[in-house]
Amino acid sequence: MKKILLLGATGSIGQQTIDVVKKSNNLQIEAMVIDKNIDKLQKNIREVNPKYVGIRNVKMANVFKERNKDIRVFAGEEILDLIDICDANICVAAIVGIAGLRPTIRAIENNMDIALANKETMVTAGDLVKDMVKEHGVKLIPVDSEHAAIHQCINNNSVESINRLIITASGGPFRDRAINTFNKIKLSEALKHPNWSMGAKISIDSATMMNKALEVIEAHYLFDIPYKRIDAIIHPQSIIHSMVEYKDGNILAQLGNTDMCIPINYALNYPNRNNYLNEKFNFFDKEFTFRPIDLEKFPCYKLGREAAIKGAYKNIVLNTSNEVSVELFLKEKISYIEIPLIVEKCLTKFDGKIDSIEDIIELDKQIRTYILKDRQV
Ligand code: NAD
Ligand code: MG
Repeated sequence: MKKILLLGATGSIGQQTIDVVKKSNNLQIEAMVIDKNIDKLQKNIREVNPKYVGIRNVKMANVFKERNKDIRVFAGEEILDLIDICDANICVAAIVGIAGLRPTIRAIENNMDIALANKETMVTAGDLVKDMVKEHGVKLIPVDSEHAAIHQCINNNSVESINRLIITASGGPFRDRAINTFNKIKLSEALKHPNWSMGAKISIDSATMMNKALEVIEAHYLFDIPYKRIDAIIHPQSIIHSMVEYKDGNILAQLGNTDMCIPINYALNYPNRNNYLNEKFNFFDKEFTFRPIDLEKFPCYKLGREAAIKGAYKNIVLNTSNEVSVELFLKEKISYIEIPLIVEKCLTKFDGKIDSIEDIIELDKQIRTYILKDRQV
């Protein structure tokens, strides 16, 4: 039995991980960590019976404890203690945002393999995380569908043999919308992804295409490929999840249904390929098309790429300013077109150097304070 620490259990990836575990005969959930949705947690506990639960919101943790005397509950900062005592082999890192960084690092420090959904961890601390993965001799297996695709297309080929990575993008809900109507975009429209059903933050990132910039950065760190050899293209059908072009002219692609359970199951079983019951792929009701990303329509993608080549510090500024802008947009305090404006302002204002996880957390705090003060929200 492979034992799993599930970070972000009540989220979109978390719930799909539970589905994969329920269908498997070799996986078991040892512990679950969530922010505050204790009703959902309660239901899941009956299904997968974990030993420990971690609830970041202390108030909700106390309510949950009252109702569940027979399970050990870790509240707030104690989540890190849960990770220390939890006897899991693999951690599914599926907390959203930079909030996932510390818990993921703690799992690596406890010698757990990482099935990584939380791309913000690689964006904000790619080099540090890679160093720790090496130091602790653990596996880092991507769950993000594009990176799971690239992971499979690279397999045992050398980095030197790769000409470029080609990350595919659906283009999000606004790929065909006229740019002169972008100032009227409603929250409900931005949340409606054409191909995938996902959490709120990544849905908005897909609508601005910041998600693709974050994925380019994630790919750079995961696969050690320079940015100039990572392209992203729009493939509206999301059938090909990404490709690797080799120097000998061969291009390998991974394709399949748009079902996140497939990369989750892949990461949890790697290097084995366990059976995962899925619909048979139908080639005859689909077509494959490709087009370039329109940088005028999607300034977040452009800002992300520009930030990335300036190095790790700017990646943090990009990530945090985006997280805060998306939170404000989700609360309907700013409009869709203000997201890149705030990100750009922060990228211009903040500059410096980071050496440690503490530096990253501190910079994240500074940027949050700056944006919220500036907006008087
Ligand atoms: P979500 O919003 O649906 O779920 C987030 C989970 O994190 C919830 O369980 C929430 O309780 C928990 N959480 C939030 N803040 C926390 C905190 N401070 N401490 C502990 N737990 C906390 O998000 P999601 O769509 O499942 O995405 C999770 C991550 O996976 C993101 O980084 C996203 O970019 C990545 N990802 C998601 C998908 C997808 O299909 N949903 C695909 C690829 C990558
Ligand atoms: Mg993705």
